[in-house]
Amino acid sequence: MIPFSAKDRTGYFQKLADKKVHILVIGGGITGAGILLDAVNRGFEAALIEKLDFGSGTSSRSTKLIHGGLRYLKQRQFALVRETGKERAIVFNNARHLVEKKKMLLPIYKGGTLGTWTTSIALWIYDYLARVGRNEHKLMLKKETTRRTEPLLKQEGLKGSGLYYEYHVDDTRLTLEVIKKAVENGGTALNYAEAMGFIMDQGRIAGVEVVDKLTGTPFTIRADYVVNATGPWSDQVAGLDQQSGNIKRVVLSKGVHIVVPYYKLPVKQAVYFENRKDRRMIFAIPWWGHTYVGTTDTAYDGDPDHIHATAEDVEYLVDAANSVFTRSPIRTEDISSTWAGVRPLVYEKGKSLGELSRKDEVFKSPGGLITIAGGKLTGYRKMAERVIQLIIDDLKDHPDKPRPVLHEEALTDLSNISGSEFRSDEEFRKLKLYCLSLRHHLEVDEDTMEKLFHRYGTNTEKVVALAETFTSEVSDPYLRIELGSLLYGIRQEMVCSLSDHLVRRTSQLYFGRNQILKYLEPLSALLASELELSPSQLLSDKNSFLKEYEAVMSWQKEKNPVTDTFIH
Ligand SMILES: Cc1cc2nc3c(=O)[nH]c(=O)nc-3n(C[C@H](O)[C@H](O)[C@H](O)COP(=O)(O)OP(=O)(O)OC[C@H]3O[C@@H](n4cnc5c(N)ncnc54)[C@H](O)[C@@H]3O)c2cc1C
Repeated sequence: MIPFSAKDRTGYFQKLADKKVHILVIGGGITGAGILLDAVNRGFEAALIEKLDFGSGTSSRSTKLIHGGLRYLKQRQFALVRETGKERAIVFNNARHLVEKKKMLLPIYKGGTLGTWTTSIALWIYDYLARVGRNEHKLMLKKETTRRTEPLLKQEGLKGSGLYYEYHVDDTRLTLEVIKKAVENGGTALNYAEAMGFIMDQGRIAGVEVVDKLTGTPFTIRADYVVNATGPWSDQVAGLDQQSGNIKRVVLSKGVHIVVPYYKLPVKQAVYFENRKDRRMIFAIPWWGHTYVGTTDTAYDGDPDHIHATAEDVEYLVDAANSVFTRSPIRTEDISSTWAGVRPLVYEKGKSLGELSRKDEVFKSPGGLITIAGGKLTGYRKMAERVIQLIIDDLKDHPDKPRPVLHEEALTDLSNISGSEFRSDEEFRKLKLYCLSLRHHLEVDEDTMEKLFHRYGTNTEKVVALAETFTSEVSDPYLRIELGSLLYGIRQEMVCSLSDHLVRRTSQLYFGRNQILKYLEPLSALLASELELSPSQLLSDKNSFLKEYEAVMSWQKEKNPVTDTFIH
């Protein structure tokens, strides 16, 4: 069992406040998570602080794809396509329960940017460079086969399509499971711990001033190296070092997704289509009884802490979908949820948003703060390797700094993350079958068990055991699973609030929002008793969840300001 319980939170804070670590990472998104894991795997004593919940920033708001790098072909970045293809295979092996291979259909229309030959050649080069396995090689489909493969597509002007594989991932859980593994391997990770300033020693950063946001308690953590992995907030956090001043390294681009119940847009596989109005490429991806469509890409200079879909974003995506899926046009009324995030892109003078590359860069301030900005979910492991290698190289020049016994190689390429401790494909298949078979005993449907397995992997049985402790007092078997998941979240995934559970650990706010209020009372009661919350603490927690619940549909009020659509 990993010691990662919200019930022991105060103890973890005290433990860290009293000591100095080699590396302190600020930011609990996928970038910070990867760096923490790489650091502890190589032998560093390392800790991570996150100002809200793990994965609450961009890392829970992506399109959820571990890209093979197809888009980089257009920019002729061949080495990047090769690296991304390799990374994709590694993430698949290490995060087996979270990553799923999905067929992606790329329709080709008369007058569109994509031609049959260019698509075929591009996909062929991509298969070759990204070392795509033989059974995943692209297929070019003629018009009639395309129509049969995806009957929802508009027929007029359709010439055919390309069919290839993308890898789909639960982004938030990937972040969390990487952090859990790092904690299991000796690291420390604290959520709701915000970096407020730096401790300086002779002009060098020697630690961080932190505040525990749940209790308001300030404390300090000393460290030999501090890494700023705060994505969209990286300029703000770098600015806490007054020697660095106000530097602009990242530009923010907003991306929105809309979610509809699957029956409203029942695509037979994921589709990557060109919006026939403005030629931008958009994804429509079926997942857990829903289809989500995204994304937008617009300049954003607001506060990254408060970002939501607007009516304009939503209407753009509805129109884009209806430009190709005319057999089943969707309406804004069909939307059950949305999410919005900001991409932290590395600023390059004279370049527009669309021209900025999605590459990552590492900067070192005069005071020694290491900032990593930009990048993608897909490349998190490589980004982490680069940051930790930089620290190892720096240590060689500073014999005065304590140097632990280090493994020079990160070995994160061979290290399964939490929940994916399968020794073989066979073991994965067997455990999945076993978990599915538990549905009879637990009296739930296959879909629920499948979801549970893909959420918790090798930890599923622990969740099931916790669910079973409610058998005598709770008659609804689905509620038992909910309660078991929440208990597991509190005791082993640092769940501190209803939002942590319903938004980040289980994504129910996005893929199940219509059902979410049904179990809110029993979930609240369990949270309060486990975490010993007072009635006023519980009320405030419930209200902050309800605010998030409302915010994903707040664009409706822009459309019709008189009608309040939220009922509770
Ligand atoms: C719409 C959209 C779609 C995308 N789709 C894909 C995709 O399909 N595939 C892909 O590979 N990539 C995709 N990306 C990119 C990918 O999501 C990001 O590159 C990645 O999630 C960035 O992770 P991060 O850890 O750097 O930032 P974040 O996830 O934002 O994490 C930074 C963290 O720092 C914390 N923080 C901020 N200030 C402080 C402080 N003072 N103290 C402590 N903590 C602090 C924040 O709360 C936040 O949790 C997409 C991005 C967007 C916006």
